[in-house]
Amino acid sequence: MEHFFTCPYCWQNISMIFDESEECSEYIEDCEVCCRPIEIFFRFEYGEISSFRANVMEGI
Ligand SMILES: [Zn+2]
Repeated sequence: MEHFFTCPYCWQNISMIFDESEECSEYIEDCEVCCRPIEIFFRFEYGEISSFRANVMEGI
């Protein structure tokens, strides 16, 4: 599943492919525009994204 969101650093609209086999996941993904590390959290419910967060990584 592809999901669009705004990078918390450069405010560009970027997309990400989620693994729907994971119910809930938290990981670091580099922005495809500014290459800075974004802290991603998502949760799936009934095949839909019920919760999504893209945060600035602390300590940068
Ligand atoms: Zn960015």
